[in-house]
Amino acid sequence: MFDIKIRLVSMLGLLTVIVLGGLILDYRHMLRRPMRIGIGLALVGIAAGAFLTLCAVLPENHVFGQVFFESQTNKKVVALTFDDGPYSPYTEQVLDVLKEYQVPATFFVVGQNVEKYPELVQRIVNEGHQLGNHTYHHVDLLKSDRKTIEEEIDHTNRVIKAAVGTTPHVVRPPHGFRDPVVMEIMAVRGLKVVEWSIMSRDWTNPGVDVIVDRTVAKVKNGSIILLHDGDGIDSRASRIQSVEATRRIIQTLTAQGYQFVTVDEILAKTEENKS
Ligand SMILES: [Zn+2]
Repeated sequence: MFDIKIRLVSMLGLLTVIVLGGLILDYRHMLRRPMRIGIGLALVGIAAGAFLTLCAVLPENHVFGQVFFESQTNKKVVALTFDDGPYSPYTEQVLDVLKEYQVPATFFVVGQNVEKYPELVQRIVNEGHQLGNHTYHHVDLLKSDRKTIEEEIDHTNRVIKAAVGTTPHVVRPPHGFRDPVVMEIMAVRGLKVVEWSIMSRDWTNPGVDVIVDRTVAKVKNGSIILLHDGDGIDSRASRIQSVEATRRIIQTLTAQGYQFVTVDEILAKTEENKS
């Protein structure tokens, strides 16, 4: 069967050819009068390239396939998600805060870090949290070939299975980046692609107040909040701001009447609303 799944990079390559072709035609006056069709073609190519790139990087965009970035619900529920771990001592500190407030969360773990800290992954599961796949090397999947993407996902599921005996059914591509081939690979494996609706850019360590304010200001029913207990595969940066922000986000949102749930639970709320 003809495979219609096309990589973003191929689409952008084709559009570049169209843009250059349009500019050359215009320059050579071939399509110039009276309408300057060549320039028009080039502008359409640039606009299409910008559109397709946004489709690949915006967390709420469905053009390349269905992603989950929030839940449509009238219930006061939100989901905390932590990316890039496990990473000692910050994952333990996040888990301690979650335990103190009895709040469940979802951890999108990096396979390489799972192999480094299998006991932390076990603790995540033991304490009632959900696990998600965040690739093995935290790679940009838009720059990876099909075989690499498949191995990044499968290898991570294998090491998670070795650590805790089960495999996740949710995945978050690093940076949220995806294209039709990435989406197809996830679909074949029965993996739901989960993005986020609230991002405080906590990984830049802007200060606890900033992380809390950026998060709390935008929260609504069904929000999926992105935070970080890890730092990719480098694991160099401190995540102490994210740990402290987690505590204050929980305190503030609990006071506002919000309940915290896992990604699975918050997505189930959308289904409840439909029925
Ligand atoms: Zn990440």
